[in-house]
Amino acid sequence: MTRYANYIDGEWLDGPTFSRNVNPSDVDDVVGEYSQADVQQTARAIQAARKAFASWSLSTPQQRFDVLDRAGTAILARKEELGRLLAREEGKTLPEAIGEAGRAGQIFKFFAGEALRLGGEIVQSVRPGVTVEVTREPLGVIGMITPWNFPIAIPAWKIAPALAYGNCVVIKPADLVPGSAWELVKIIAEAGAPAGVINLVMGRGSVIGEALVNSPDVDAISFTGSVSTGRSIAAKCVASGKKVQLEMGGKNPMVVLDDADLNVAVEACVNGAFFSTGQRCTASSRLIVTEGIHDRFVEAVKARLKTLKIGDALAPDTQIGPVVDERQLAQDERYIAIAREEGGTVFGGERVAASTNGFFLAPALITDTTPTMRINREEVFGPVASVIKVKDYEAALATANDTDFGLSAGICTTSLKYATHFKRHAQVGMVMVNTATAGVDYHVPFGGRKGSSYGAREQGSYAREFYTTVKTAYANA
Ligand code: NDP
Repeated sequence: MTRYANYIDGEWLDGPTFSRNVNPSDVDDVVGEYSQADVQQTARAIQAARKAFASWSLSTPQQRFDVLDRAGTAILARKEELGRLLAREEGKTLPEAIGEAGRAGQIFKFFAGEALRLGGEIVQSVRPGVTVEVTREPLGVIGMITPWNFPIAIPAWKIAPALAYGNCVVIKPADLVPGSAWELVKIIAEAGAPAGVINLVMGRGSVIGEALVNSPDVDAISFTGSVSTGRSIAAKCVASGKKVQLEMGGKNPMVVLDDADLNVAVEACVNGAFFSTGQRCTASSRLIVTEGIHDRFVEAVKARLKTLKIGDALAPDTQIGPVVDERQLAQDERYIAIAREEGGTVFGGERVAASTNGFFLAPALITDTTPTMRINREEVFGPVASVIKVKDYEAALATANDTDFGLSAGICTTSLKYATHFKRHAQVGMVMVNTATAGVDYHVPFGGRKGSSYGAREQGSYAREFYTTVKTAYANA
């Protein structure tokens, strides 16, 4: 069994214990044994990042471009192999996993360019003879805590901007899926990141994550994961004056209007709700359908779901891979049971036997639901979507916005009037017309409103808001 060490100050160091990374498509397949760091190793990684910051923060944009560009090239060259590892540890289908690895490579290429593009402003002073410059400087040491559902893309979209703008990083990936982050950090080290600039500490959030959040030597925390963990991290960061950025859950609505192209609507909804096993914070979990198309839409979605092949993520014909682990499978089943008890009608949602011993669940479509049911208020994070029948566009919009979350929202319509109105009035960070709520570009901002996000946006050039601090310099000539 191959063992994988933590990466601290340019060295690969075993932790005191190891944890097994298990394939959710086949629990008899162990991907590897990954070191669990302890609090002392985490402190060492933070100190290494602190030390490296002195020179990395003053490195030239060309140096940072070169490291990120080489890393991006290596990721893209190895995307098939990285995708296979990702599919094996997380359970996305192979095409989805290779797509995610490719996206990580593109993100590094984009932020290589961002290192060169960082400029400033010269502003006229209100005082004679005085000049004013507004520039951006790196923040310092960034602690990163990432979830299991995008094992390479999320670490990439946090690490690449952090390094591009001159920060140093200590990253703790999700304990369930450390393999992709481990390969990513190795690639960055081999691309020439100096010792201490990037550090990897693997292990439990309650130990390593807490140590990052509580350290006075960490300047900022970038977190993606659940609402409850995110909120407790934010409270600690605010109390200690750390900058913090949270990406959390969603209860994303997809509105389908009577005038929608039925095929477009079915594909957008099935993709958005069920691909990647529904384990995306942008998944369409509430399908809000006007009454004139409701019955045809529901029948067409059911027919489409019947055609989907569920099974081993690595098998070439699989369209829906496994749920990530036993705990998440239990959560998905619990919500399906709750929906049934609340009066919903459940199609699918049963465990599926496959050729391998994994956590397979048939996609569940729950009809006859109302907006107040728990299934329409709480994030499930699995292949489960509910349908809410509404009278018209106005009711659909009100229902779409009736949620504590605000990450992504979509509408399927052929009406320019309704599409335009929805883009303006959906209370979310990302809005989609005639395309799935999940699946976004890598060069534009990602994030939401209300309970979904907190702090500055991630991705695209907007990422600089989080990873830099602004300086205003005055000079009297
Ligand atoms: P968590 O929020 O618990 O985990 C996200 C990350 O935070 C992991 O790296 C985790 O570590 C770490 N963490 C956990 N506790 C702490 C802590 N006290 N201090 C610092 N870091 C901590 O989510 P789960 O993975 O447990 O998933 C639970 C639910 O969260 C899902 O069912 C889903 O609803 C939601 N979720 C949402 C995601 C999103 O993208 N919006 C992504 C993943 C989950 P560890 O490795 O030990 O778990």
